[in-house]
Amino acid sequence: MNSIEQALTEALAIGRQYVDQGECASYIPELSRADKHALGVCVMTASTDRYAAGDTKTRFSIQSISKVITLAVALQHCGFEKVFEKMNMEPSGDPFNSLVKLDLTDDKPFNPMINAGAITTAGYLEPDVSFEDLLAYSRRVCLDEGIEIDERVYESEKNHCARNRAIAYLLQSKGILTGDVEKSLDLYIRMCSLGVTAESLAGLGLVLANGGLHPQTGNRLMDADVVRVVKTIMLTCGMYDESGEFAVRVGVPSKSGVGGGILSVVEKRMGIGIYGPALDKKGNSIGGRHMLEYLSQALGLHMFGTGEA
Ligand code: GLU
Repeated sequence: MNSIEQALTEALAIGRQYVDQGECASYIPELSRADKHALGVCVMTASTDRYAAGDTKTRFSIQSISKVITLAVALQHCGFEKVFEKMNMEPSGDPFNSLVKLDLTDDKPFNPMINAGAITTAGYLEPDVSFEDLLAYSRRVCLDEGIEIDERVYESEKNHCARNRAIAYLLQSKGILTGDVEKSLDLYIRMCSLGVTAESLAGLGLVLANGGLHPQTGNRLMDADVVRVVKTIMLTCGMYDESGEFAVRVGVPSKSGVGGGILSVVEKRMGIGIYGPALDKKGNSIGGRHMLEYLSQALGLHMFGTGEA
């Protein structure tokens, strides 16, 4: 066993100790059907070696991790200035689906990693970029041709999206969402319903770690300046209102979703994908978060080093 394999085996054992303390998301009914004890971690290294432990081939919905892909496409399509003309790049410190600051503190969404921001981003793309275009692009950047929309999750979320619909219409009232509100919301929900695996997330993580280049062909999948923006926002805003503590403890740009996924990017070295649908109170995979904390120490992944002199 090499050191990565061994670290993944140990991480999995540590993560499993925490899953009973978490719960699957239930506000989208279909998500509550997940096996709360499922847990897996996959690493893809810069030399494209793949290491896996646990449930790394189970498909689950990408949920908020799609915000990374949508942001990247919006930056490519509209450019930095346009994307951030109507949206900030600050952590909100509030839950991902909160409307409070949007209404009371600032008329712009705080960042593209919360729902208000991602619905805004979807609004930038709709009607120029279709869901089919985004699906094809998601397959390319995740190195996974098997990605499809999970129709059950899509229907379930579509039928339980009162809060996101409220956010979308609030955005319209503030002149942020200027196109078709329902179509923008639908694009957002479709993207959240993509079925991925921990392996697909590791693939996406590797593309981001590799500055936007396909790790095997060397083809450019994302502009380098877009990748830089995306990773920075993942670091500051990617783990809900736990982003600060996660950055201190793990020190790896990451994005989680309420389907139980976590996408992590270790600069120039590897992509990490996690699946663990039991969530902590903030909405992050509880087993996944502890696995990443362990891996950061065991493999020296923290972007600011080991902390030793
Ligand atoms: N589709 C979910 C929602 O809009 C995404 C939430 C998440 O993963 O953070 O509520």
